[in-house]
Amino acid sequence: MTTHEREELPAARRIVVKVGSSSISGEHAGNIQPLVERLAAAHGRGTEVVLVSSGAIATGMPFLDLDTRPSDLATQQAAAAVGQNMLIYRYQEALRPFGIVAGQVLLTAGDLENATHRSNARRAMERLLGLRILPIVNENDTVATHEIRFGDNDRLAALVAQLIHADALVLLSDIECLYTRPPDEPGARPIERVAHDDDLAGFQFGSVVVNSVGTGGAATKVSAARVAAASGVGVLVTSVDLVAQALAGEPVGTWFEPDPNAVPAPATGAVGTVGARS
Ligand code: GLU
Repeated sequence: MTTHEREELPAARRIVVKVGSSSISGEHAGNIQPLVERLAAAHGRGTEVVLVSSGAIATGMPFLDLDTRPSDLATQQAAAAVGQNMLIYRYQEALRPFGIVAGQVLLTAGDLENATHRSNARRAMERLLGLRILPIVNENDTVATHEIRFGDNDRLAALVAQLIHADALVLLSDIECLYTRPPDEPGARPIERVAHDDDLAGFQFGSVVVNSVGTGGAATKVSAARVAAASGVGVLVTSVDLVAQALAGEPVGTWFEPDPNAVPAPATGAVGTVGARS
């Protein structure tokens, strides 16, 4: 059942939660435990939870003696290969007290556009959820680099939510909500709700931001949220600090209303173009 309003989030049958690199790596690695506690609580109520986590590159950097995010793609991919391993280890350690087992799923957006790969991925995810495993998804960075360059998994999370017909998608980062313009500029107002047919042309979400550990920013979140909402998945954009309130359906973040007329994405076959591939 689609989650039409954020108050209905606690009753969602299946949710995808996405967390960004800077929220769970480096000095913020301590956020993993409280995040996992909230996911475990939802899992314990019977909700099927999929976590889409970035942070492989950021987590791998210290193991390669890198103080700053590498600028060349090959080293970013190498850092991701090292960091992914550690990231999953940290999540599994945090999940252990709750008796929850994680399953690592590495995907590319291209996989979700290829009919055979798409149906394989969907079947595997359904089986994992049926087995009460908590799938943890990231981009397969050694063979695909879209999310490294354009959005820290925002787009991938929307595609996964579509694929498994999630009731809701929660995009967690460092920002509490979206604003009508960059929040440090005068006149910026928080956006509480976006109707499925709202025209957002008057708002300035900026372009992809590359910070010291990841990529993304408001623009990639809006683009991903609109894709998910158009396929009938309600989306909440908020900060990792507010995950408890978000999953409790409290009035935090920016809610993207799902399109009530959406036709669910097919289990197999190609999906529409998602996000900008500039
Ligand atoms: N898949 C990458 C990671 O997990 C994307 C994050 C980024 O934008 O650097 O590290």
